[in-house]
Amino acid sequence: MEYEAVIGLETHVQLKTKSKMWCGCANAFGAPPNTNVCPVCLGMPGVLPVANDEALRLTALAGLLLNCSIPRLAMFDRKNYFYPDVAKNYQVTQLAHPSTIAGYVDFEFEGRIQRVRITRAHLEEDVGKNSHFDRHSGVDFNRGGLPLLEIVSEPDLTSPDMAYEYLNALKDILTYGGISDCDMEKGMVRCDVNISVRPKGTTGLGAKIEIKNMNTFSGVRKALEHEIPRQIEVVTKGGRLIQSTRRWDDVAGITEEMRTKEDAHDYRYFPEPDLLPFRPTDAWLNEVRSRLVELPLARKQRFIRDYQLPAGDAEVFKNDVELGNYFETVAKQSTHPKAVANWVINNLRARLGETREREVAEQAALGLELADMKLTGLADLRFTPAALVELAGLVEAKTISSSAAQQVFAEMFETGKAPATIVQEKGLAQVSDTGALEKFCDEVIAANPGPAGDFKAGKVAALNFLKGQVMKVSKGKANPGVVGEILERKLKA
Ligand SMILES: [Zn+2]
Repeated sequence: MEYEAVIGLETHVQLKTKSKMWCGCANAFGAPPNTNVCPVCLGMPGVLPVANDEALRLTALAGLLLNCSIPRLAMFDRKNYFYPDVAKNYQVTQLAHPSTIAGYVDFEFEGRIQRVRITRAHLEEDVGKNSHFDRHSGVDFNRGGLPLLEIVSEPDLTSPDMAYEYLNALKDILTYGGISDCDMEKGMVRCDVNISVRPKGTTGLGAKIEIKNMNTFSGVRKALEHEIPRQIEVVTKGGRLIQSTRRWDDVAGITEEMRTKEDAHDYRYFPEPDLLPFRPTDAWLNEVRSRLVELPLARKQRFIRDYQLPAGDAEVFKNDVELGNYFETVAKQSTHPKAVANWVINNLRARLGETREREVAEQAALGLELADMKLTGLADLRFTPAALVELAGLVEAKTISSSAAQQVFAEMFETGKAPATIVQEKGLAQVSDTGALEKFCDEVIAANPGPAGDFKAGKVAALNFLKGQVMKVSKGKANPGVVGEILERKLKA
């Protein structure tokens, strides 16, 4: 019997706010332990939480970007448990009335558009971080009380690769929308994976096994690559899987059982009495809607449609938003958007990369850290978007050859001079003046009677040799297309 995997993901993402969820403490990474704390986020008796407006707005905005509905009532609940990372002995979350429900994410997977449904995206607070040392353990509450968005997917994922691409798509959407920086190294994205297997073609769900607290997307993929065959092996050998929680050991490359359903927590949820229900108004929702942005996949599809770009170019502009915006500024002024894309990707991006590499080396030698370095970016370009349009136009009109255009680009990148000025100063214009070209052709035919005779006798390849000679005589400035026409006409006469 063949088996298939059924995978659902619960993704926790830290929201990009200035302050924490219920207090004014800073939402900042990297401060010394327990320096961004106050009586509220330490859960002292008698304190009262005040909801962070921006966190509520970002949650609704995330919901809209994930095609969710925004119910007119949201409530917070207490999830009760005892653990050193929650000083209050409960975490505030949303159970029965989440801020957003029933959406979906579309993303590219194996050459088509894959849709994964979103059950809900709700708001909760992050907890502190436990650290274990040789002789003692410590808790850092700087992270405690940070606003956390939990995005719960339906079990629509069927493979480790699909889960990986879904997570990347989610990350792209949330960073595009300004919801979160999604910096994995700073622990801003964490993931719980629910997975079961069932005979292929059936619709029931097998025992749900959860792998907790994954903090890299590649880790999720690896854990699934291990866990799916493990579960299939158990059931094919006649064993029984039971609902349980496991952890992924990245070093050993295996999942291990942590607890089974029998000792699962009973969190005794109840409505948080210190917070009023939240009822979004039309005005509030309209304000949130005004912050909607174009999603990555939509942007890529629009670039392909509006500028006739190949998928590869559009992908570059999807991944590098700043470069894509720059391309659009230029392309809107040009009648040759594909040519502009080539200049931006193959020349501009490469030159900027080289320049920055050099600047990093120079400034590192002066003892500067990367964060403090001044590096050339798109805003520092010496030439205008119009100059790039002009350059693409010069090539398109065959005023200059493509190799001459490379020289022009290099010069305008360094000096900011206009392409036409550079062409004139360096004498790079192609000679299309037929009078001058006729003369070159006559000279070349007279000097090469052999190849000229070969062409007349039907050896078509001889024309290329003669064309090359004319290019040489013109010092590379002759328009090769025109030269070909003139030579053919003269030789056939
Ligand atoms: Zn605080």
